[in-house]
Amino acid sequence: MEIFIEPIGKLINQFSKLPGVGKKTAQRYAYKIVDMPAAEAEEFARAIVDCKRRVRYCSICGNFSEDEVCDVCKSRDKSVICVVRDPRDVVAMEKLREYKGVYHVLHGVISPMDGIGPNDIRIKELLARIDGSVREVIMATNPDVEGEATAMYIAKLLKPLGVNVTRLAHGIPIGGELEYTDEVTLSRALSERKSL
Ligand SMILES: [Zn+2]
Repeated sequence: MEIFIEPIGKLINQFSKLPGVGKKTAQRYAYKIVDMPAAEAEEFARAIVDCKRRVRYCSICGNFSEDEVCDVCKSRDKSVICVVRDPRDVVAMEKLREYKGVYHVLHGVISPMDGIGPNDIRIKELLARIDGSVREVIMATNPDVEGEATAMYIAKLLKPLGVNVTRLAHGIPIGGELEYTDEVTLSRALSERKSL
């Protein structure tokens, strides 16, 4: 016999798919939904469907966007490109409110252990963006083994194209993640970035 009646059991299963949500938390979330006024629960469900329908990747930088090209790519200085692993890192950089360039989201880093090679992330898309107008590419992948290896690999490809490649200064703890780095540290790592 199932412990939960079917619709609640189903909802618990869905919440269990979220990162960091165990069975107990999933149950609490499901009960909360059941207790919500119908309109509120519908708004919740609609936000999920809307997100899937309206959010896509910018065709230039690969960050989340509602349009074919995102607002950052449309409006910012394109002579500096900051290369990050995923869209969450863009949020971390944007919180500083001091970076005025554009981004390139790789959607991963090179990781032979996980079978992820250079062709599995958006490296050729980055190379395609390099023309005479790009002054600097800032490698802002995490300072862990994969992030460093990816930064070095890309730097090697970019240098012959005559573009200045820099790396965020250390200050971000080794093995740490941009997303969880406090703003003061990340801000200093950005302003003290050095050439690769
Ligand atoms: Zn974009």
